[in-house]
Amino acid sequence: MTCAYCPFQGHRRAVHAHLEEAHAPEVRTRSEAETGRMFFSLSCPKCAQTMEKRVKPRWQDPGFLEEFSREIRLVAFDLLLYHLEDHEPHGEEKRS
Ligand SMILES: [Zn+2]
Ligand SMILES: [Zn+2]
Repeated sequence: MTCAYCPFQGHRRAVHAHLEEAHAPEVRTRSEAETGRMFFSLSCPKCAQTMEKRVKPRWQDPGFLEEFSREIRLVAFDLLLYHLEDHEPHGEEKRS
């Protein structure tokens, strides 16, 4: 498969690792001031759909965002890969 952001190509696992290395800033995190709940989000560069998920409660300890941000990114990019696989002809649709 091809990376959603650049021409990098490889097996799913290679692309997954590449995403985390090269496109880490694409994953954003935010927390709700009132509830303290945390979320991460990632936009599909092909169709601008934004995927947002709640960060697992077990990850919610102080310093979490820094310490576990790599783990969050891996989960987020996994979601993106599933999303890309879901609507495959994606890239071609946009070109027309
Ligand atoms: Zn890339
Ligand atoms: Zn998409």
